[in-house]
Amino acid sequence: MKPAPFAYRDPDTVDEVLALLAEHGDDAKLLAGGQSLGPMLNMRVVSPAVVVDLNRVKALAGRGGSASGGFVIGALVRQADLEDDPAFAAAQPLAAAALPFIAHRPIRNRGTVAGSLVHADPAAEWGGVVLALDARIEVRQAGGASPRTVAAEDFFTGILETAVEPDELLAEIRLPPWPEDARWGFREFARRRGDFALAGVACRFEVDGAGGGRSVRIGLFGVGDTAVRARRAEAVLEGETPGPEVFAAAAAAVQDEVEPLDDGHASAGYRRHLAGVLVEDALADAWARNGGDEGEAA
Ligand SMILES: Cc1cc2nc3c(=O)[nH]c(=O)nc-3n(C[C@H](O)[C@H](O)[C@H](O)COP(=O)(O)OP(=O)(O)OC[C@H]3O[C@@H](n4cnc5c(N)ncnc54)[C@H](O)[C@@H]3O)c2cc1C
Repeated sequence: MKPAPFAYRDPDTVDEVLALLAEHGDDAKLLAGGQSLGPMLNMRVVSPAVVVDLNRVKALAGRGGSASGGFVIGALVRQADLEDDPAFAAAQPLAAAALPFIAHRPIRNRGTVAGSLVHADPAAEWGGVVLALDARIEVRQAGGASPRTVAAEDFFTGILETAVEPDELLAEIRLPPWPEDARWGFREFARRRGDFALAGVACRFEVDGAGGGRSVRIGLFGVGDTAVRARRAEAVLEGETPGPEVFAAAAAAVQDEVEPLDDGHASAGYRRHLAGVLVEDALADAWARNGGDEGEAA
């Protein structure tokens, strides 16, 4: 199919983008990598009057370490830019580990992190990653309003829905500084490499002075309407000594708390089962990654 006719604009500055959004609101769609918008236009899932192409806006293409020690990803940063950046892998190992699982390289060459987040496919890897990392997302509107910052846990509001309004631009994603000695794991299950995952998990935790889990974050994707934190499972590990029994208990908690979708790809029951298995494995990976407890990996 071909898209319905639309007007095309390719502004050079963020202010021009915001002015176009203010003018057209619901009738406009932003174009970043086009890897999700293109198919949606072609299938007429969306039929905007105006497509606003972000690709000339150089101010959105920046990436790198922030003054606070975090990592900032501008709205035009391609997934492949990060995949090829050793500084990103060093600064944010969990996010870097997830990148090769996202679609295929030609799609990552064009697809942006911001586009993935705003598209908000419940099975997108970035959803789980930003939740596990407590990312902050900067959103801008026209009219001189101050940019607002949305916490990752408040970002996803429904299937293909987020806290970004039609007249707003996701300007950048801020990943907080990586905690020293943080443990992390990433697991997903897809029928074929590059397909959207049937279920997946990104997790990170630290270990406190008494040997208990601390700041436990478990971000799930593919197991509900949106990416979601597995809060009951996080609570199982918080303060407890990491190890196989605790990881199995966290897996059971996940299976209790998720509300997966039944669809043509997998049943809700299968996704629930997968969520538990993947969480248990990802936590064990995380524990083993830094040598576990005095070298005794789970
Ligand atoms: C065959 C195929 C397989 C794929 N498999 C996976 C997969 O396994 N995992 C995965 O996570 N993704 C997958 N994707 C999606 C891919 O990662 C997309 O690139 C990504 O979801 C969208 O990024 P984009 O830059 O192309 O956004 P676009 O397609 O340009 O835009 C997507 C949406 O976000 C909006 N938007 C874009 N940028 C902004 C912004 N800065 N502010 C506000 N709104 C904005 C657009 O208006 C549009 O609604 C797949 C895509 C294809 C075609």
